[in-house]
Amino acid sequence: MLKFRHEVLNEKQRKILPSLSFLKENNFYLAGGTALAFYLGHRTSLDFDFYTQAHFDSTLLYQKIDNIFGTKAILTLKEEDALNYLGGRGIATKLFTELTNPSIDPLSPKNNLVFATTPLTDTSAPASGRGHVVFKSPLTNTIGSSNSGGEWAVYLKRTGIDALVIKGKAHEPVCIFINDSDDINEKIKILPAKHLWGKNTHETTENILNYLSCHSCLGRNSGENSQYSRSNEPIVNEINKLEPKQIDKDNSRVLCIGQAGENLVRYASIMNEKNRAYGRGGAGAVMGSKNLKAIVVSGKKRITIANKERFQQVINQINYRLKAVPATKRILKSLGTAGLVNLINCINMLPHNNFKDTQHSDEDLWKMCGETISETILRKVGGCFHCPIQCQRHTQIGEKVGEGPEYETVVLLGPVLGIYDLKSITLANYLCNEFGLDTISCGGSIASAMELYEKGIITNNDTEGLNLRFGNYEILEEIVKEIVFREGIGKHISEGSLRLCKNYEKPEYSMSIKGMELPAYDPRASFIQALGYATSPTGACHLRGGYAVSLAFFGGAKEIPRFSIRQAPLSIRNVQDVGIIQDSIGICRFTGFAVSIDVWSKAITSALGREITKNHFEKVAERIATLEREFNINAGLTQDDDTLPARFQKEYIIVSNEKKIVSPDALKLMKEGYYYLRGWKT
Ligand code: SF4
Repeated sequence: MLKFRHEVLNEKQRKILPSLSFLKENNFYLAGGTALAFYLGHRTSLDFDFYTQAHFDSTLLYQKIDNIFGTKAILTLKEEDALNYLGGRGIATKLFTELTNPSIDPLSPKNNLVFATTPLTDTSAPASGRGHVVFKSPLTNTIGSSNSGGEWAVYLKRTGIDALVIKGKAHEPVCIFINDSDDINEKIKILPAKHLWGKNTHETTENILNYLSCHSCLGRNSGENSQYSRSNEPIVNEINKLEPKQIDKDNSRVLCIGQAGENLVRYASIMNEKNRAYGRGGAGAVMGSKNLKAIVVSGKKRITIANKERFQQVINQINYRLKAVPATKRILKSLGTAGLVNLINCINMLPHNNFKDTQHSDEDLWKMCGETISETILRKVGGCFHCPIQCQRHTQIGEKVGEGPEYETVVLLGPVLGIYDLKSITLANYLCNEFGLDTISCGGSIASAMELYEKGIITNNDTEGLNLRFGNYEILEEIVKEIVFREGIGKHISEGSLRLCKNYEKPEYSMSIKGMELPAYDPRASFIQALGYATSPTGACHLRGGYAVSLAFFGGAKEIPRFSIRQAPLSIRNVQDVGIIQDSIGICRFTGFAVSIDVWSKAITSALGREITKNHFEKVAERIATLEREFNINAGLTQDDDTLPARFQKEYIIVSNEKKIVSPDALKLMKEGYYYLRGWKT
């Protein structure tokens, strides 16, 4: 069991960790046995100037859904917490870990979902519209932590709310509507959503926006003239009770789950604005377990910047950098993230057939790479809020339109399954978005099933005749549907690759870490990557060390040797810490190609009117990493969980004509170095 060195945290930091005393002081915990069913905090008269100037705006909303009716309470975020955790991943982790018992069942009402915005949300900072959610993951039993682009977080901020904590469980399916009213009794409505249960994320989003539009057009008497069926009347009637200011469609954004979340698929995602995903770790299943179908945010409140002139100067500098660097100026826009396919293949890192090897023909890869997507199925490019990089792909296959596929999806629903058929990959991607399913874990879990099938461990009896051989692109859509509706072999695949493989007594065929399926980079081709995966608090996530690939690739073999056991701990610690800060100030990881954390510290300083140095950022990252680690240890994880599947430690791949594995000794040495740097005792 790991123990923390006391000197990791200074006196002030340790004081913050033990308890969220302000929550208790504010009667956050309700008297037992009363009819009080939910509570929330909202914008208050400010005790802390900092919040207005920091855009935290002193606003926290806490929502418990034990019932659809209840009593509300107001809470304010402490200034020191705002400074010590900044926002996004930091604040959400802080709130979540204080409020959640690490030993709970992630699908029980005791789990909490904490959404948070950041100090840069809804500012002119580029690529800054991202939100974060923290929860206990039903896939990994670790802390779950997921980040999404789009605009939902921006509109949450415009309601005057910085963080939203969802607790408990509704007795029946509900939607939450939040607006920017200063009257706490008008600010939030929880409405029945039985008629939306069973609808996919696109249908749900359109339904809700249409209700809002219906109400806007027809006033409060939409009933008979409504174009919507009688089955929709309950929610229309409820919406009719809202004041017009509460339901402004143009200023509303919808976040919801699809059938995957409803059916508690362990890697179900939460989708916002249809195609932007809080993808990894099963946040959608947690939302489903709470009977919460959607959260609709409507608002026009704007935040203030402490030093507008200086802030704009820094933002201009950031925009200049984004336009000067090829990756952010041109490559991501013209090729999307799938432009990585050929690059990652060049460094022998692109996985194939459940990570058995990294061998592909150029001809096969060309069928589904970013260049081909741009030349064939791309209709237009797009971007998240205020993002000049524009990596989104709006695509079309026949009559069907949708978004994607992104790099991770192309590979996990493609070569990892032995599939190189762009049409099948894209259609399966559309389905995942519509059902609300993480494409990475979906592909990784199917890959394990395919390997079990090819080895004769899963039989035709199990699959009810479905041919699960690698390369069989014809069954891709079918198997996704089986997973979502837990039918046939999909019932087992929906549990994730580790549970699937354990069910067949072959856990070694799950290419997962802490139960989370690997993204699209083979760790044998970069030790930095391998260590990042092994030590990630949430399992094998592309955003928790996965993007260390950029060091291996852009650094080059000489500058940052990707097979250096000695350099890996410091390199990955730094990559992880930069990621924590990016998630906590709400900017996209891709800005990292052009803009250093140093520059972002200047943006935060001028936005908050408080000196936030790079050194401060380092302390914040250390604090958040420690909280995540502490939660996992208290959830029962040990050092032994910081590991790689046996395949990567025993079976070699060929990298630049050399055989490569991550040997157990190499992994042990790198882990020791990493723990030393983190200040975590072994
Ligand atoms: S780079 Fe892509 S993912 Fe990142 S914010 Fe911009 S559009 Fe969204």
